[in-house]
Amino acid sequence: MKRAALLWLLLVCSSTLMFASAVAILEKAEIKKNELRLHFNKAYNKGKIHHFTLKHPHREVFDIPQARVKNRYVGQQLHSSHCHSIRVSQYKPNTVRIVLETGKGYSCMPYRPILSYKSYHIPLPPFKVKKKQTVKHQRVKPKVIVHKTSGPKKKAVHQHQHKPKAKLINTSKSYRRGSGELIVIDPGHGGHDTGAIGGGKREKDLVLQIAKRLERQLKKRGYRVYMTRRSDVFLKLPQRTKIADRKDAKVFISIHANSLPKGSRRNKVQGIETYFLQTTRDAKSQRIAARENKAVLKGAGSNLSKKVIVDAVLNGPKIIESNKLAIDVQRYMLGSLRKHYRGVRDMGVRSAPFWVLVGASRPSILIETGYISNPRERKRLFNSKYQERMAEGIAKGVQSYLNNRKKEIEF
Ligand SMILES: [Zn+2]
Repeated sequence: MKRAALLWLLLVCSSTLMFASAVAILEKAEIKKNELRLHFNKAYNKGKIHHFTLKHPHREVFDIPQARVKNRYVGQQLHSSHCHSIRVSQYKPNTVRIVLETGKGYSCMPYRPILSYKSYHIPLPPFKVKKKQTVKHQRVKPKVIVHKTSGPKKKAVHQHQHKPKAKLINTSKSYRRGSGELIVIDPGHGGHDTGAIGGGKREKDLVLQIAKRLERQLKKRGYRVYMTRRSDVFLKLPQRTKIADRKDAKVFISIHANSLPKGSRRNKVQGIETYFLQTTRDAKSQRIAARENKAVLKGAGSNLSKKVIVDAVLNGPKIIESNKLAIDVQRYMLGSLRKHYRGVRDMGVRSAPFWVLVGASRPSILIETGYISNPRERKRLFNSKYQERMAEGIAKGVQSYLNNRKKEIEF
């Protein structure tokens, strides 16, 4: 992923710098007189503030364009007995998002004080909220981080023992077809960036093969697909920009293969894992993220505040959605493969701070399709039937996720 991710980061950062002069900085957020008061360094664009509500639970949301949160401390410790939670985040590189979780609706009329054109006041609800719901609706940090699908981890005695549950098998008929929603597929690496290498085989070739199969599988199901690359090329910045322009994309899927450095475990470790973006304390996830991020971190100058960018994504609303997408994809991928192959190892759904997922304002996942360093798994990974089953599983997972989301009001 390394170079592709670097470009992505550059894109995020350059757009930040380009607009730097037009951007109002949110320097302070405080609760006073039952209002959330925002203080900018200069006049912000009041006319462009987008105020809307979300349900289950009820939230008042404000998107403030051409604005940035000064640093990660601004707006982090806001408490009021009139809100379950008050969140301030860098929702997009140049959009600050304010979310008041109030449980129920009220007539919320924000305003700019006459004498203070740099401030924006958002009245909180006149009622107090019940305390217990704060924990229940904690939306930023999902509890499910590692999801293991059912079944023993080791070898299956019979091939059919690992048939997924009936619910998973009846997909094609029981699920509605996609209605032209756009899916972005990002085959990792490319060109001079080979990615991991094992037994002379290269990650960049493998992930492109799987991506093309996935494209066909998704199209078969009625989705539109945008591929970040279709050949062995190194992605340039304008190509990446195109992805960012695809605002109607519902899902972003980056495809990679894993690898272990030379050592005794190199021939043993195998398995499939799906990541969504989040900081983690899990050492293994950290190690894999570090490997994929290496080039990016090297390339990022000290004056680029990577912390701010990561915070922006971590505070965004897409983490839970990405987590759900990751769970569905992982589950169906394993279901599809285990119908035909023994000993397919489930390494779970994990979270890690992958740079390629930073800045994605839609549910985004990164699939580590297997260990290219493991001879047995490598052989499978480059087998066309195995690739097809895997692609089919990923497509079913995306379909399941999108169909479930359709049922939810806020999607
Ligand atoms: Zn990779």
